[in-house]
Amino acid sequence: MIATEQIKKEGKSHDTVGCIALDQAGNFAAATSTGGLEGAPVGRVGDSPQPGCGFYAENGRGAVAISGDGEYIARMMLAGRTMYHLEKTDPQKAVEESLEELKKVGGEAGLIAFGHDGSIGWAHNSSHFSVAFAGSEISPRIYLSKAEETGSQDKILKGAA
Ligand code: ASP
Repeated sequence: MIATEQIKKEGKSHDTVGCIALDQAGNFAAATSTGGLEGAPVGRVGDSPQPGCGFYAENGRGAVAISGDGEYIARMMLAGRTMYHLEKTDPQKAVEESLEELKKVGGEAGLIAFGHDGSIGWAHNSSHFSVAFAGSEISPRIYLSKAEETGSQDKILKGAA
């Protein structure tokens, strides 16, 4: 287990890039690439390379990519949970419900997801989470925090303090 709190205090982190895509034929894709976390033991496998943990995509349902504290994200299989929620709800509620469930184990995460119809949801319980998206019917947008999109600090999801 990595001392994630200590790493955050020292400001040592490599961050992750995650991407979800939907093509004209209705194919969903998801991918993540990460530098991992500073201080990780050799051979550590975080959430980013594990389907169902740091990413997932399924035609007809949607896709999700996640960044954050890999030990907690993997333990909760957070991408798999998000896909489950996407069967019943829209992508914004799906990522918010997933963050709620992450509180059971702690940790910070940011998620971006597609619903089956190509609608987009994203949320984070970290202080910031950079997101950019664009589509044939969506003009390009870039945010550094959910608060920028909603205009309200209250909309940022906070994990268990
Ligand atoms: N999730 C990545 C990991 O735990 C780290 C990150 O997202 O910055 O390896």
